[in-house]
Amino acid sequence: MAYDYDDQNIFARILRGEIPNSTVMETDHTLAFRDIQPQAPEHILVIPKGPYVCHDHFALAASEAELVDFMRVSGRICAELGVQPGEGGAGYRTISNAGGHGVQEVPHYHLHILAGRPLGRMLEQA
Ligand code: AMP
Repeated sequence: MAYDYDDQNIFARILRGEIPNSTVMETDHTLAFRDIQPQAPEHILVIPKGPYVCHDHFALAASEAELVDFMRVSGRICAELGVQPGEGGAGYRTISNAGGHGVQEVPHYHLHILAGRPLGRMLEQA
């Protein structure tokens, strides 16, 4: 796979314990913590502990255990936030930016979970 993982990126440093973070959930394969510049009242980042650059890298190269764990953690966070539409919650948005057009800043795969206010339309008009 043509991905060159930069192990000095800020999330790799968080995973090594070199930089503090506000952890909301941790499992063997996954870490979730609060975004340092929240764009909504609830803004949580979910990251795999493995060295994956972006969504397609993780989706194609990770083990089934890593994939399942990541998805379950993201769902458990929605449940803990009380935002699940199926449970009467107000809803939320997940976003994963990748590469140049996706305007990805940190080259370690992460899923944004945003909630706590109406989030507007998905994309602004270009
Ligand atoms: P992206 O553009 O999808 O790569 O977004 C990267 C996100 O990481 C941004 O929302 C930043 O606010 C967030 N971020 C950067 N550094 C930290 C940090 N040390 N702790 C928590 N979130 C961070």
